[in-house]
Amino acid sequence: MKFEIYDTLSRRLQPVEPANGKELGFYCCGPTVYSSAHIGNFRTFVVQDVFRRVAELSGVRVKHVRNITNVDDKTIRVSMEQGKSLGEFTSFWTEKFHRDCEALNLLIPTVEPGAVEHIAEQISMIETLMEKGIAYQAKDGSVFFRIEAFPEYGRLSGVKDRELTTETTAQADDEYGRDSMADFALWKAGKPEDGDNVWESPWGPGRPGWHLECSAMSIKYLGPSFDVHSGGIDLAFPHHENEIAQSEACTGQSFSRLWFHVVHLMVDGKKMSKSLGNMYTLADLQEKGFHPEEVRYGLIAGHYRKHLNFTLGALEAHRSNLQRLARLSDLVNARANFTPPSYRELTKSSREEGELGRFYPAFVALLDNLNVPKALGELFRVAGDIEKHPDTVTQEDALGLAVVIEALGIKLPTLEAADIPEEIKALAETRLQARADKNWAESDRLRDELTQRGWAIKDVAGGYEVEPLS
Ligand code: AMP
Ligand code: ZN
Repeated sequence: MKFEIYDTLSRRLQPVEPANGKELGFYCCGPTVYSSAHIGNFRTFVVQDVFRRVAELSGVRVKHVRNITNVDDKTIRVSMEQGKSLGEFTSFWTEKFHRDCEALNLLIPTVEPGAVEHIAEQISMIETLMEKGIAYQAKDGSVFFRIEAFPEYGRLSGVKDRELTTETTAQADDEYGRDSMADFALWKAGKPEDGDNVWESPWGPGRPGWHLECSAMSIKYLGPSFDVHSGGIDLAFPHHENEIAQSEACTGQSFSRLWFHVVHLMVDGKKMSKSLGNMYTLADLQEKGFHPEEVRYGLIAGHYRKHLNFTLGALEAHRSNLQRLARLSDLVNARANFTPPSYRELTKSSREEGELGRFYPAFVALLDNLNVPKALGELFRVAGDIEKHPDTVTQEDALGLAVVIEALGIKLPTLEAADIPEEIKALAETRLQARADKNWAESDRLRDELTQRGWAIKDVAGGYEVEPLS
């Protein structure tokens, strides 16, 4: 079975394979570093991480490029308000972002380019568009992309069907926006309030438009045509639509083959917003006593093409799911005498049916448009079988479990005494009584039963200690 994903452009499932037969070019729109990323942003980044893991574990090499938006209207405005240089300000928030990514067990992208370090590439694209007569300079010095010059505009989001009216453009307008009705800015002329944050260009001092950053960086690192472009669904229009227009008009080649969009996260059924007080960062959740691995689990548990309703109650349930998986993994590895290989080791070969034992269906669910809820369902179904019949564990099961856990990027918690299942405690207690009764045969039988279930029991003064076999 091959990995397939829903493509927003063709509106159907498409195989995830590199067009060049070697390496999948995967571009993700990265964070704007002017504050902490919130868990909505992280839903998108974590789902993109699962996408990359599933591709790599199914034998596809991935070149993952995720940019840092370290120059735009917001970064300039907030850094100026705080009296900091743009560089100092964005480095601070970039480091914070990296720490959150690490806590959430995100793989580090192959390349992580910053927009401010790629201004020359952006200027060069505008020059080409000017030469072709597709871009024009407005009175204030800003340069715009003439949408009329690109008849295919709107194919990705279908916005053409709704017409680029004042209504749609106003709705979609953002701080990076457009100054005329539909045309969008490629270069923004510097204003006095920008301070030192202007760069020289053939059109005078200013800065590049936000949309152009991603075109310039994706083309630089992945070439004019690449495999997959991704972001939250809000980016499909106007950001990605504009990226397609300016890139294809500039290079004359088709831009990304597939478009992979993640639907938004809601909190308690509502859109996340500062004014509703329901906007969480990872740090906010950690302060409430949740662990990053529980947050990650919560961010992937729903299907990425549906709104995810994030609640604190659900996070609590994820803690016990993770503990159950940790116990399962200990039990399976002990039974199969298996040491799980590192992620890198696991990506060295593709996966065939049979190789992943009873966990193959869970992996297949991931290959089928990243169906994480189904994969988790399969995982716990098999967990139930194994918990009942631990003696049935095979080497293939152990590899399968390791692959599925790595595909989801789950970091298993270390088990504490409190995590010992009730039935194990009950067996240990019965054995303690048998020993008190000097019923050695029964005591030995109970020790065997505990071993069968993946637990070691040690007699210590006044009682016993149990721990998972490893
Ligand atoms: P930004 O830092 O605003 O450029 O956003 C970074 C990424 O987060 C983009 O791919 C956005 O589409 C995505 N994003 C923003 N809000 C949400 C949300 N509530 N749920 C999921 N993704 C989001
Ligand atoms: Zn982008």
